[in-house]
Amino acid sequence: MRLIMLGAPGAGKGTHALLLSKEYNIPQISTGDILRSHIKNETDLGKKAKKYMDKGLLVPDELVVEIVKKRIQEEDCKEGFILDGFPRTIPQAEALDKALEELAIALDKVVNIDVPDEVIIKRMAGRRVCSNCGASYHIENKKPLKENICDECGSELKQREDDKEETVRKRLQVYEEQTKPLIEYYEKRGILLTIEGDGSVEEIGNKIKNTLEVSK
Ligand code: AMP
Repeated sequence: MRLIMLGAPGAGKGTHALLLSKEYNIPQISTGDILRSHIKNETDLGKKAKKYMDKGLLVPDELVVEIVKKRIQEEDCKEGFILDGFPRTIPQAEALDKALEELAIALDKVVNIDVPDEVIIKRMAGRRVCSNCGASYHIENKKPLKENICDECGSELKQREDDKEETVRKRLQVYEEQTKPLIEYYEKRGILLTIEGDGSVEEIGNKIKNTLEVSK
């Protein structure tokens, strides 16, 4: 199964990509996570990407396209993968099409999680991530067992720099302008599944699984 998770920042792409990756036993490929690990390791790519990410802007297409092209050819992607946060622009989608064609593989579905802006702003203000392993929590909806400490690895939880309200508003604007056109792009192909994403993780997760099963 080859899937794309589409949706505004904070719509729940990462959460549901992770659940689906466990369900179908295929890797979740998050360009945001890959870029953050480059920043943490202070690579050249990380240094370039940080300038854009801190402002809530998209990293240039050519940088992320290269990351994804390489990643989808790795051994663990043979049975499929879930792209989380990629593509985010029409040129990225076109570059992905070209790469998939060259590899003689095709996308199965694009899962579009639709959540109103105000819900997103509230969600992201409460999101906390582990400074070490990247696991994601929420101060109201998904509390860690011990306050501000990661359940998985015991490190401190932090608010992502780009989850501050002003940056979130910028990211939502960038989404409207650059990423939303992808909905029509994949709708025309007949592979788009839109899920109303305002609800609990369990509810939305079940909706996504059922919709994927029915559309097989
Ligand atoms: P995310 O964790 O998916 O919300 O991504 C965090 C940030 O990483 C975004 O706001 C962008 O600056 C950058 N980023 C992640 N994926 C992409 C992409 N496909 N294209 C451009 N920038 C990206």
